[in-house]
Amino acid sequence: MSTDDINNNPDQFGLETLSIRYGQVRTAEGEHSEPIFPTSSYVFASAADAAARFSGESPGNIYSRFTNPTVRTFEQRLAALEGAECCVATASGMSAILSTCLGLLKQGDHIVSSASIFGSTVVLFEKILSKFGISTTFVQQGDYAAWQSAIKGSTKLLFLETPSNPLTEIADIQKIADIAHAKDCLLAVDNCFCTPILQRPLDLGADIVIHSATKYLDGQGRCVGGAVLGKNDVVGEGVYGFLRTAGPTLSAFNAWIFIKGLETLSIRIKAHCENAIILARFIEKQAGIERVYYPGLESHPQHELAKRQMKDFGAIVAFELEGGKEAAWKLIDSTRLISITANLGDTKSTITHPATTTHGRLSDEERNFAGIDDGLVRISVGLESIDDLISDLKRGL
Ligand SMILES: *Cc1c(COP(=O)(O)O)cnc(C)c1O
Repeated sequence: MSTDDINNNPDQFGLETLSIRYGQVRTAEGEHSEPIFPTSSYVFASAADAAARFSGESPGNIYSRFTNPTVRTFEQRLAALEGAECCVATASGMSAILSTCLGLLKQGDHIVSSASIFGSTVVLFEKILSKFGISTTFVQQGDYAAWQSAIKGSTKLLFLETPSNPLTEIADIQKIADIAHAKDCLLAVDNCFCTPILQRPLDLGADIVIHSATKYLDGQGRCVGGAVLGKNDVVGEGVYGFLRTAGPTLSAFNAWIFIKGLETLSIRIKAHCENAIILARFIEKQAGIERVYYPGLESHPQHELAKRQMKDFGAIVAFELEGGKEAAWKLIDSTRLISITANLGDTKSTITHPATTTHGRLSDEERNFAGIDDGLVRISVGLESIDDLISDLKRGL
């Protein structure tokens, strides 16, 4: 089969097939696996050809800050998986969020964001974008009236993560998209914890999807990258326009690693979810545990919404220990298999203490508002044998 069949008709193929084959364009060498194009620039047939490319009159590669075939294959494959018209790959997940904001907003604009988001995103909104006159109001993710009343005349963007990090709160994407659209705002969803295998925010009414490819898209903890997806007239113009000039570009090498990561995405996510529910149920039964946060548990307050909105429940399990920070650190330090590191979405399970790491730069007040207690521990459940993961936790529990 030629790669054209699938590239021209993505709607006729399943997500598993798209994640393995979409977006590949074979060169004259007939290579089976996708090639890497490590080149900074491209040669033109003539001065006139160069001029036509630069003016946009003729399509084609110009310079790898904004056109690279390997990066393009990653972008097109991820776009097919998310059901997006357009994807712009970026150097990191944070630069995906930065490019979205600087590409689409201007001085005086306002963001309404869930308080339950990645710690660096809070810092970006509060400390960096504010310097350029873009302000943010944070709301409790599940308080729909608060979302509505936080929107003002200058609000352009609503922002959320679902499930949230680290408390796995679920936001009703459709509901918040309706709130955004009633006031002519865009809704951006950071889909890092789910990937399109579990949830496709654009199908639920979101306008923009953001990824930290560093997490599940790579899936093996090798490199940093990100992506922004959405409509051509939003992401294709504003975000791509920003990236083309400002340059937070994904490298061809990293794009190639993500292409290979996507090929196993669906089976990895399935296996991650299978391990996570077993581990969550185990932790819930232990003494000294105040609460377990995992959307797959019947005890999760939004279990029903999660069942409706997601195909499965993901692999981030957070829980609160009765003894506060001391108990949390003791548990973390008792592990011998699970890695003490803040990365997530890796085949290797990781354990972290959000209050002093990922959310350590937040003020006490911000941390309280986000619900991050000192006894909270977050595990990104990997693909090791579940019995080994349970044994590793038993030691410290
Ligand atoms: C890690 C992460 C980011 C930032 O991505 P980087 O690739 O580390 O820049 C953004 N959002 C979420 C939910 C994350 O977990």
